[in-house]
Amino acid sequence: MGRLLVQKFGGTSVGSVERINAVASRVARFVERGDRVVVVVSAMSGETNRLEGLGFDIAKRPSPREMDMLLSSGEQASIALVAMALMEQGCPARSWLGSQIRIETDTNHTKARIENIDVAGVQADLDSGTTPVIAGFQGVTAAGEVTTFGRGGSDTTAVAVAAALEADECQIYTDVDGVYSADPRIVDNARLLATVTFEEMLELASLGSKVLHSRSVELTGKYGVPLRVLSSLTDPAEENPGTLITTEEQAMEQPLVAGVAYARDEAKVTVLGVPDVPGVASKILGPVGAAGIEVDMIVQNAGADGSADLTFTVRRADYERALEILREASGTVGARSVAGDDRIAKVSAVGMGMRSHAGVATRMFDALAAENINIEMISTSEIKISVVVAERYLELAVRAIHDAFELESPPSAD
Ligand code: ASP
Ligand code: MG
Repeated sequence: MGRLLVQKFGGTSVGSVERINAVASRVARFVERGDRVVVVVSAMSGETNRLEGLGFDIAKRPSPREMDMLLSSGEQASIALVAMALMEQGCPARSWLGSQIRIETDTNHTKARIENIDVAGVQADLDSGTTPVIAGFQGVTAAGEVTTFGRGGSDTTAVAVAAALEADECQIYTDVDGVYSADPRIVDNARLLATVTFEEMLELASLGSKVLHSRSVELTGKYGVPLRVLSSLTDPAEENPGTLITTEEQAMEQPLVAGVAYARDEAKVTVLGVPDVPGVASKILGPVGAAGIEVDMIVQNAGADGSADLTFTVRRADYERALEILREASGTVGARSVAGDDRIAKVSAVGMGMRSHAGVATRMFDALAAENINIEMISTSEIKISVVVAERYLELAVRAIHDAFELESPPSAD
């Protein structure tokens, strides 16, 4: 008996007629070998950006509902093309929009969350030997409005569908070989990880290692769907296991540090001379949160004069808005002034092994000190240590930490 697989192909993998045909042959090969495959696809590469650009050419602040209507059309085109290509290979196929399957979501346009999936239609296809091809990244509200899940959201469609179907494995085909110990564009000898736990992956994904949509990793953990990231560019006949994202129980090794992640698009803002009395932090951060701006690291230094400085990081895109809001709020609480820096980056070491080993932070800080990199902020969790550094040190910091934990690939035999 074959396996039930969900195979998701990203924009690059369906970026041209040739690529679409290659995807179809890959899928057909699995089907011929007796597996049942559910295909999930993204829009052709560049298409979602193009559509988004059009929206912003027309309106400075396009209606989120209309943005969803617009962006979801990219996937509508690619599912039809992939289904046709499968049929050309002699593999019966049928395309499905999110609204047709009924991937039901909340009403949060442009960042909707899946609430329920009805897999009956897809299951019927599978039972009759038809390969369903599902549009990633999109759903529908109870009232019938089209929604999308945020950029990169097709991964989340794939995992959610795999969970609903109780698939044997969800395979995310992409243009990289899997998950690396660091961005291979920055670190030459970054290692391809055979396995990584979903907790580690969640930190790596949310920290800016853009391999997977964060929500898809959360769902992997929640439903225990085995998730594999692998390349769609290698010959399907070759052994190409990619990276398996596992639960902790399944993980073989628990490295001190599994990988080094970074997020470049960060900014920090400081409210100086805040009266050091109860309630002030909430009065300052409240309006920021109310404006939908996500605050990440927060540091407060108490000064000698009974006042304090409150510093926190936001996404760089939110920097100007955050400054504006804080200037207003600082007047209300009687703070002295507001300052900021939008040329910072966050670099993080992530690993399950940190939980049971001391000294990881010291090793990381030593490595940065040896390169003369100033640490501006620090935050830690059970399995992660993050530092904020000036953006110009980003690459150097990633390499230094990668070296310090000896994450490089073993020298090859030849
Ligand atoms: N097409 C959407 C995007 O470019 C969704 C995805 O590719 O996962 O963000
Ligand atoms: Mg993606």
